[in-house]
Amino acid sequence: MTTERLTTELDDILRAGDIIRRGGLVAFPTETVYGLGANALDAEAVRSIYAAKGRPSDNPMIVHIAEKEDLEPLIRGGLASLSQDAQKAMDAFWPGPLTIIFSKSEEVPDATTGGLDTVAVRMPSNRAAYMLIAASLRPIAAPSANISGRPSPTTADDVLEDMDGRIDAIIMGEQCDVGIESTVLDLTGEVPTILRPGIITREELSEALGREVVYYNGLLEKPAETADPEDGVAETSFKPKSPGMKYRHYSPKARVILIEGNTEEFREKAKAIGIEAIHNGGKPAVLDYRGDERRAAHDLFADLREFDRQGYDLILIRTLEEEGLGFSVMNRMLKSAGYDVE
Ligand code: AMP
Ligand code: MG
Repeated sequence: MTTERLTTELDDILRAGDIIRRGGLVAFPTETVYGLGANALDAEAVRSIYAAKGRPSDNPMIVHIAEKEDLEPLIRGGLASLSQDAQKAMDAFWPGPLTIIFSKSEEVPDATTGGLDTVAVRMPSNRAAYMLIAASLRPIAAPSANISGRPSPTTADDVLEDMDGRIDAIIMGEQCDVGIESTVLDLTGEVPTILRPGIITREELSEALGREVVYYNGLLEKPAETADPEDGVAETSFKPKSPGMKYRHYSPKARVILIEGNTEEFREKAKAIGIEAIHNGGKPAVLDYRGDERRAAHDLFADLREFDRQGYDLILIRTLEEEGLGFSVMNRMLKSAGYDVE
């Protein structure tokens, strides 16, 4: 199939909305990363997302909405059932990079939630994303628009690198502001729990809810068993709360090693590992965000893809402090490195 290149102009967005309504696939920018969207209420359309990404079908998707009212048909009990916590989180951070887990209604197909009885919902702030959802008159299920296992795309070109010819259309917008995926907050249990860290931090959520929000266990630890990188399918009974966690993730073609330490220590270790790699015929690259977490979030996935394009086969990245946004970026860095830290 030929992938149509669309702009963020109204005519093109309306066209993209038609494609979604007809059951097609459209990649679109959001403030976090590019998403690969389909009508969330059409199981057939949603299944074609899994096919385009080569993604395991028990990996649930985030449903994107334009207005608070769009929640009504998606969640069990409708808007009237919203908890205080949900109200507060939505008031504070929607539209924006926060995904909230709710109990799902009957209308949401199993294909969208990977068979779970909960649904993940987000209201993006990106203008093109908002307009697409509004134009399609449907909630849009969208995972990141990359081949499963690869770094998430933060530019239209990165999407095309993986998806050209596999999807109906792409809205070619700007580079994503945030650069890492949304914070996923589970409000279905007793304690508000972050299943995936993002730019909205635990501290900010605790403040908005007026009570302690916790991280789900092990967000910086290697899962007991990880997926077979060859086929992306986990051969494990490991059942984490956020199913996406068990799969290999964010991997460039190059091997990634994280290096701890101050500037001096980082340089020493990177030099030693880099020289050995060169002796063995390798092509190492060095990446130091100097503790700038915001820039690390913005650039990490784009940088990993750029190093791949330039043929580097080893990427040595300096770690960040595991606090606030640093925690969230380290969650991604550790996965790309297969938890290899020197
Ligand atoms: P992606 O599609 O790449 O943006 O990833 C979506 C993330 O949201 C994955 O890590 C999923 O596991 C998580 N997620 C989506 N729906 C649910 C749900 N109902 N319960 C828990 N986690 C979810
Ligand atoms: Mg993803």
